[in-house]
Order: sequence, then structure tokens, then C-alpha cells
Amino acid sequence: MRDRLPFEAELIARIDWLIKLRWLAVAGTALTIGLGALSFPGSLTLGPLFGVTGFIGLYNLQFFLYLRTLKIGAAGTVRLRHATLFAYTQIILDLLALAALIHFAGGVENPMAVFFVFHVIIASVLLQRRVSYLVAGLASLLFATIGGLEYAQVIPHHPLPIVGIQVYRQELYLVTSTTVLTVTLFLVAYLATSITGRLRERDRELLESMQVSRAKSEELQKLNEQLSRVDDERTRFMVLVTHELRAPISTIYSCLELALSGYAAPEKAREVLARAQNRATEMLGFIGDLLSLTRIREQAVQWEQVPLIQVENVLQEVAELMKVEAERKDIFLGVDCAPDLAPVRALPDQIKLVWTNLLSNAIKYTDPCGIVQVSLSQDAGQLIGAVRDTGIGISAEDMPRVFDEFYRASNARLVSPHGTGVGLSIVRRIVEKWGGKVWVESESDLGTKFTFVLPRADC
Ligand code: ADP
Repeated sequence: MRDRLPFEAELIARIDWLIKLRWLAVAGTALTIGLGALSFPGSLTLGPLFGVTGFIGLYNLQFFLYLRTLKIGAAGTVRLRHATLFAYTQIILDLLALAALIHFAGGVENPMAVFFVFHVIIASVLLQRRVSYLVAGLASLLFATIGGLEYAQVIPHHPLPIVGIQVYRQELYLVTSTTVLTVTLFLVAYLATSITGRLRERDRELLESMQVSRAKSEELQKLNEQLSRVDDERTRFMVLVTHELRAPISTIYSCLELALSGYAAPEKAREVLARAQNRATEMLGFIGDLLSLTRIREQAVQWEQVPLIQVENVLQEVAELMKVEAERKDIFLGVDCAPDLAPVRALPDQIKLVWTNLLSNAIKYTDPCGIVQVSLSQDAGQLIGAVRDTGIGISAEDMPRVFDEFYRASNARLVSPHGTGVGLSIVRRIVEKWGGKVWVESESDLGTKFTFVLPRADC
């Protein structure tokens, strides 16, 4: 298939050319016969000669019509098969027609027998190398057969008026002319197929390099799109970060301005400075979150160097710290760990961030006297961590976006105006980095449950 690609694609165009060429041949032959008849009245077998020429014209008309249907017909391999078959038919009919013309005009004495070279050349242009040799062989055979049959007087000899002595009965002439024609045809087949073969080779190389460069340019385009997506993402990130930092900085600025103006009473000035300090602390927290996010994103991991950790130990540590906050809001914080939990492969600081974010959110978004229940269990392949609360919940429309960077639901803004919206994106990044998944289930005003899974390191 590979080596037929370029010329098969052009086959139909070349058949078109062949049909046009045949019209010329028909006209030329008719003219030659006409001139011969005028120059040597009564010496040519005009009926059969014009008959064969007319037959060529007729089948060329058929070919012309068929080619039109082929051009608009089904594409692909079927069309190529039809076109190849079509080319074979034409070559065979042309060979037979020329043989018939030669027979009715002098047989082996007709010098136009060399016209068989055109068929050999056409076959090498249209089809494969071996077809060209086949045509050379077939033409030689037809010539020899005509010569042999006329010599044996099985078929009549139609003499040419331009040839004085009749040599068709001389064995030596018969053998020599057949040999010369055969050698000529095979030589022509060799030369023509070598040239067309080299041209096709170049066609194929060209086609291949075109395909390679097309593939390369598609790849480049994809990379370009990826780059521009990354660029968009970065711009969006910058805009959001700047936006988030603007509010606390302007608060700090106005607090400091008021304190420095000297108009505020010392008590009031202290209060204002404390507010500025609070906002600065929040800002530091936000910057810390951003740094974690970037670090997780860019930190390359070598799997073998990642430690095996017990997630329940990290959970106990975080829960201990969170208890103070929960007690302050009178929230019950329960921790339920299944026994004999398998280790996971992850950096402990990052797993700590996961628990811290999920637990602090649960406490933050749960009203006083609510419940926060944490559980850690495992199944055959993974550890399952869950944090459930009886808090404000997340509406169905906010749910798909809570893991997006900087996204905050409106009910959360009411409860805690200064959140960053980065915590959950950190959670998702970490969990996914260690081969796990995290998801949320919630109902507005009823509560929320975050669940994450991490692959067990012992599986
Ligand atoms: P932040 O808490 O700073 O707003 P997060 O990324 O941690 O940022 O959370 C994103 C959003 O997800 C929150 O603003 C809130 O709308 C929602 N959310 C997260 N945890 C809870 C929870 N336990 N209950 C209700 N809403 C939550």
C-alpha cells in the first residue's frame, strides 16, 4: 500500500490524459488511413482498418463517460481498485487494437509495429513496473502471433503498398523483426520503469516529508494552545491574587492613616492598630496558603523517596490543635479512627494541610453547639478520610466550584468575611498529587461532608 500511494492518487488524472491522447491517436490513424487510401487507391483493406479505428473511438467514448462517473463516485480504495482495473482494460484493448491495425496493414512488414513502445511507456506511467514488462511481452507475443499466422497462411496477409517485396514469408525476416521488436520493447520497459520508479520514489519522499511536517505543525499548534492556556491561567491567578490582597492592604493603610493622623484618641488608635494587625495576620495566612499552593504545584517528587506515613497520627496531631478552636465555639469535635490502618506514601506536612483545612473549615462554617465528626477507615485498596459537620452547608450551584482557587460561596462570606478561598484547592491538589480523590456532599443549612481517599502503600 505504502509504495502505491502517490501514483494511485494520480491514477485518475493520468487516465484522463490517456483518454485525451487516444482521441489524438484515433484522429491520426483515421487521417493516415485516409491519406493512404487517397495515395494508393484500392490497395488498402479500408473496411477493417476504419472499423478498428471506429472501434477505438467508440470504446474511448465509453471510457470518457465511465471516467466521469469514476471522478464523482465513491472515494478511497474502492475507487482506486476500479481505476486500476480500468487502466488495465484500456491497455489491453489498445494492444489488441494496434495488433489488429498492424494485421490489416501489412502485418510484420508494417513499420508502425514500433508504436507498441507507447503502450509500454503508458503502462509504466499508469501502473506498476511489472505491468510494463507484461505489456512488452504481450505486444511481442501479438506481433509474433500475427507474423506466424500470416506466415503459415492461417490468416490472410494484407500487403502494404509502400513495401515492395513481400517479406512476411521469409523466416529470417520474421525472426529478426520479432526479436528486434521484443528487445526494443523490453529495453523501453526497463528505461521507462526506471525513470518513473525514481520519480515515484521522489513523490513518496515528498509526501512523507509533507506528512511529517504536517504532524509537526499540529503538534506545535497543540503546544501553542497549551502554552496560551497556561498563560491565561497565570493571568487569571495574578488578577485574583492582586484582588484578594488589595482589600486587606487598603484596610491596613486606612487604619495606619487614622492612627498616624493624631485625630484618634489613644484608645481608639490602639483599636485601629489592632484591626490593622489582624488584617496583616490574615494576609500572612493568605500568602502562606499561596506559597503552599505553588510549592505543591511545582515540587517534583521521586516516588521512592516519599516516606510511608500513618495518616491517623497526623490526624490526631491536627485534631488536638483544632480542639481548642472547637471548644471556643462550643462545637463537639469527634474523631473516629479504625484500627490497624495501612500506611500511605505522602509527605506528612501536606497531609497535615489536608486535615487542617478540612477541620478548620468544618469548625468555621458550623454554628456554635454544632457537631464536627471526623473518621478514618480503609477498604481493600485505599484509606478513606471524612469530615462531616452540621454547619451552613453548600448550595447545589456552589458545590461544583468550591475546589476552585479563590472561590467562596456567598453564605460562607457572611459567616467569615475574610476567607481566602484557597484552602480547598490546596486540599484537592495534595490529594490528587498522592494518587487520591476528594469530593463533597452537602445540603444548605444541614451540613457538609468532605471525603478523600488515598491509595494504601501496602497494596
Ligand atoms: P475559605 O474557607 O477560605 O473560604 P476554602 O477553599 O477552604 O476557602 O473553601 C472554599 C469555599 O468552600 C468556602 O468559602 C465555602 O463556601 C465552602 N466550604 C468549604 N468548607 C465548607 C464547610 N465545611 N461547610 C460549608 N461550606 C464550606
